Amino acid sequence: MTSNKKITRQAVSLFHRKIKEAERIAISGHINPDGDCVGACLGLCAYILDLDPKKKVDILLEPISEKFRFLAYADHIMQEKTEEEPYDLYFSLDCSDKERLGAFQELFEEARFTICVDHHISNQGFGDLRFIDADASSTCEILYDILEEKKISFDTAQCLYLGIVHDTGVFKHSNTTRKVMEIAGALIDKGVRPDFIIDETFYKKTYIQNQILGRALMESILLLDGRIIFSAIKKKDMDFYGIESGDLDGVIDQLRVTEGVECALFLYEKTEGQFKVSLRSNGKVDVRKIAEQFGGGGHVKAAGCTVEGNVRDIVNSISPLIDQQLEQGKDV
Ligand code: 5GP
Ligand code: MN
Repeated sequence: MTSNKKITRQAVSLFHRKIKEAERIAISGHINPDGDCVGACLGLCAYILDLDPKKKVDILLEPISEKFRFLAYADHIMQEKTEEEPYDLYFSLDCSDKERLGAFQELFEEARFTICVDHHISNQGFGDLRFIDADASSTCEILYDILEEKKISFDTAQCLYLGIVHDTGVFKHSNTTRKVMEIAGALIDKGVRPDFIIDETFYKKTYIQNQILGRALMESILLLDGRIIFSAIKKKDMDFYGIESGDLDGVIDQLRVTEGVECALFLYEKTEGQFKVSLRSNGKVDVRKIAEQFGGGGHVKAAGCTVEGNVRDIVNSISPLIDQQLEQGKDV
């Protein structure tokens, strides 16, 4: 356990006691699982099964990207419960609220004991035991704080490292602290290979993924004297290329690093007339506040929401809110 002022010793010992006492455990993360979510779910599963292989651990999660499937216990991921009885213990990882559990919210609610581990600033607190730290880079960082260092195996280490890599954008976002680097170092000591994890799960793209990235950049539009950039992909284009949402990872990051840009928006059409919006800030706009106005959430510099309408109307309703914050000229 590393030092984390938001986590008490009592809470940590209850976490470990609950794992010890539970026979049937479930772990869920948020809908549309990203690297931190997948790393947290699989890392915790590996940790529990390393301690006691006889325990039953179900990971109830939407299907994950192919690029994460090499991680240990990826085959424990399922979309249907295997038990009639409520789970003894249920973990919600990387979810800012219960709704983000999607189809598994009800199973979480009926479990005998629930634990929430999360780092979203918009998390108001839910679950019987809570580890919520908006200063943490990732849910995987908080898990590292909670887990007993000497019991972290290579399998768990690899998952936690992957989660940290993804939520820090490979150690470059402003959530990359000295502590993050120290944890990453400790995980490397467990045998994790940074080159492998970073290239295979973050940078590597299929030819089609590169094509769609190129297209999204080529069709991007600057607004407000170049301080906002947006791009959008329609469902018919996603169908044409045969791609899913996970194939669009990295588009928003590249838009954000466009010179002069303060805020980047990327939209993709989930179903006809309904767009998932990703927002990223370079420090002058609190994008979480904006996403929340549309029923979404996230972090100050990275947030998202789902909005009905066409691209023009959605961008026209979001950009004045960005403009307002830019006018105030404050750092977030
Ligand atoms: P992304 O744009 O990569 O999907 O999400 C950026 C951040 O915002 C992530 O931390 C993600 O969990 C959060 N986020 C994205 N979409 C939503 C949403 O619809 N609701 C909430 N509460 N958070 C979201
Ligand atoms: Mn996260």
